[in-house]
Amino acid sequence: MLIGTGCDPKRQPDASTVDKLSVVTTIGMITDVVRNVGGDRVDVVGMMGPGIDPHLYKPTAKDVQRLSSAHIIFYNGLHLESKMGDILAKMSGDTKAVAVSESVDRDQLLKPPEFEGQYDPHLWFDVTLWMKTVGKVRDTLSEYDPDHTLMYWSNAERYLAKLGELHQYVETQAARVPSAQRVLVTAHDAFNYFGKAYGFEVRGLQGISTATEAGIADVQELANFIADRRIPAIFVESSVSSRSLEAVKAAVQSKGFNVEIGGELFSDAMGSEGTPEGTYIGMVRHNIDTIVNALTGESGSQTAPTGE
Ligand SMILES: [Zn+2]
Repeated sequence: MLIGTGCDPKRQPDASTVDKLSVVTTIGMITDVVRNVGGDRVDVVGMMGPGIDPHLYKPTAKDVQRLSSAHIIFYNGLHLESKMGDILAKMSGDTKAVAVSESVDRDQLLKPPEFEGQYDPHLWFDVTLWMKTVGKVRDTLSEYDPDHTLMYWSNAERYLAKLGELHQYVETQAARVPSAQRVLVTAHDAFNYFGKAYGFEVRGLQGISTATEAGIADVQELANFIADRRIPAIFVESSVSSRSLEAVKAAVQSKGFNVEIGGELFSDAMGSEGTPEGTYIGMVRHNIDTIVNALTGESGSQTAPTGE
């Protein structure tokens, strides 16, 4: 179309000639945003399904093929998909690779001192921050496929309204936990944005990335913290092995205090497709319900970790 712009790296094929845009995404939370905003116009393939840890995920040959034939790739960025950096950097020509985290102002990002000068990538746990990625997806799709701008905007509006309600739900639920009891202990440090947004002190056994294993000293330190503070429940994550948190529970027990595994949280991956937790909204609701029920000692949704 138009003039010869072959040397322009931003050159885009004429989107109006294709039936559907082919989009590849990394984590399920991004897949969900693209599905909601893109609707029928977009054919989206999510690379990382339930239980997949994005910090450790290495793309398969099939993934690489999909990535290079996609119109658009949406990924989180901030080194979440740390084994994919090279591949994403090599994407060029007709494929557009977009880090949705670019939609968030740098001064709203957390920069934990122990994470080697990098930003914490787990944005989706502050629903208001994650809402910004919806705008990024909407704008990218509209720019690529201007004929359907109106549809992308109205889809995004509808989804943003639901996310606004979700944010309020999390706030309301969090308020049920007395502030002194708002301590969230999980397998890895995925919940810093959650803690900041909803007023919880958070501790993860492993750091921001699961690439570094927790050592015996980490287990002991966390066990001391839990016993000293008399924290009633800690939480396993669907994408991280529960073994190390079981070790923490045992170490706490040896100090004469009993901590429960309060349930399984969806941290870096959503639940199975077709279940409520297989959507971003469902996963966030599941997490806050599980946390609040376990920390307040109210029964109802305490679920045993799977695979026992
Ligand atoms: Zn993580």
